[in-house]
Amino acid sequence: MDKFFSPIIGLEIHIELKTASKMFCGCSANHFGKKPNTQVCPICLGLPGALPAPNKKAIDWTVLAGLALGCQIPKFSKFDRKNYFYPDLPKGYQISQYDLPLGINGKLELKVSNQSRNEKNIKSKIIRIRRVHLEEDTAKMIHYQNFTLLDFNRAGVPLIEIVTEPDFESSDEVKEFLVKLQQIVRWIGIAEANMEKGQMRCEPTVNLKIKKGKKIFYTPLVELKNINSFRFVKKAIEYEVKRQLEEFEKTGEVKREGNKTTRGWDEKKGITVLQREKEEAADYRYFPEPDIPPIRWRKIQITNFKLQILELPEVKREKFIKEYGLTDYQAKILTSKKEMADYFEKVVKLGRGKLEISYLANFIINKKVEISRISPNQLIRNLLEKEKITKITGGELEKIILEALKENQKATEDYKKGKVNAVQFLIGQVMAKTKGQAKPEEIKEKLVELIS
Ligand code: ZN
Ligand code: MN
Repeated sequence: MDKFFSPIIGLEIHIELKTASKMFCGCSANHFGKKPNTQVCPICLGLPGALPAPNKKAIDWTVLAGLALGCQIPKFSKFDRKNYFYPDLPKGYQISQYDLPLGINGKLELKVSNQSRNEKNIKSKIIRIRRVHLEEDTAKMIHYQNFTLLDFNRAGVPLIEIVTEPDFESSDEVKEFLVKLQQIVRWIGIAEANMEKGQMRCEPTVNLKIKKGKKIFYTPLVELKNINSFRFVKKAIEYEVKRQLEEFEKTGEVKREGNKTTRGWDEKKGITVLQREKEEAADYRYFPEPDIPPIRWRKIQITNFKLQILELPEVKREKFIKEYGLTDYQAKILTSKKEMADYFEKVVKLGRGKLEISYLANFIINKKVEISRISPNQLIRNLLEKEKITKITGGELEKIILEALKENQKATEDYKKGKVNAVQFLIGQVMAKTKGQAKPEEIKEKLVELIS
């Protein structure tokens, strides 16, 4: 078969920032599970005459996200109105950013082993990030029988949008990227990014490049929506790739269906379903938001942001391997969360010179140490105590055993005559003397050695 295809996948990701208040008003931004329409005001309800006041923290955090994703931060940025008419948008427009986003031209490096192609070796791959911008979230629509209910608690929550170039070639790469992105935004402390809670939402665009003979075809671009877990991202993309390939094979050519079609992921059926046509970008009639002054950054401000994100997970991981001599596996687990990495560093600082670093790493990983319950100080004290106990019993065990043999001459004779259970008795005696601080196997070994 002289046919070859390769998926072309891009991502648009929305992540809610975990600021205390909303993007343009003082309402609480923590809306999950709250009684509908209890965290609203004239601003986030879009009532006439209400004026937005931007949340500085949200702007700063978007810049941090941009920098963490290797973006350039242009000196000048502004907000724009994205106009469209939909019930989840009370103003009739969304305050977003159009031509001058807060971050541009970033990149994220992936370590990919392409499982679906059975490739075992791990490769490095760069995903280019086109832009990172800040906007407001919309109201939540709840479909109930023939009605649609609206909850405005979510309206106006700060939302960052991250758009990648279509650099992904498989669902594995997409998943790897999302996991990494989630880890980064959690690490720098700007978002919870829980997909199941809708705090992180992703819309992949998928099409295929197909080589047939000397001709190259591109299938029409499809945007996938309604995906709320990492698992479904993978499934939806895989389904869509298969569907587009089959569609192409059926017709042998490519039908143009406008610019882009939208398909929703149906998790019950495990398929993607055609949705309403998406408006073209031109239809949004973007124009600068007149109620919010533009943003101008001074160099020193950007430098200060950079200082806040010096040690991202990747950097820490390298450090743990090079400086502490940890294995890839140990370093990966101990840098999975910032709290964990910080904890481990404190433990190392306290335990260095007294305990092996690799032993400390293994102990935390294997014993699943609950870092919120035991302080680094306490952990080191416990481990040193443990060491001490084994050292004492190691040195004194022999003395204690000899003592026990003297006190239990009958049992000793019995053992020599071949009564095996006499050993159990003697072990019990020794255990009692050591107050349970020596291991039975250890005692038995030494005991048998001493009697014979
Ligand atoms: Zn409000
Ligand atoms: Mn958006």
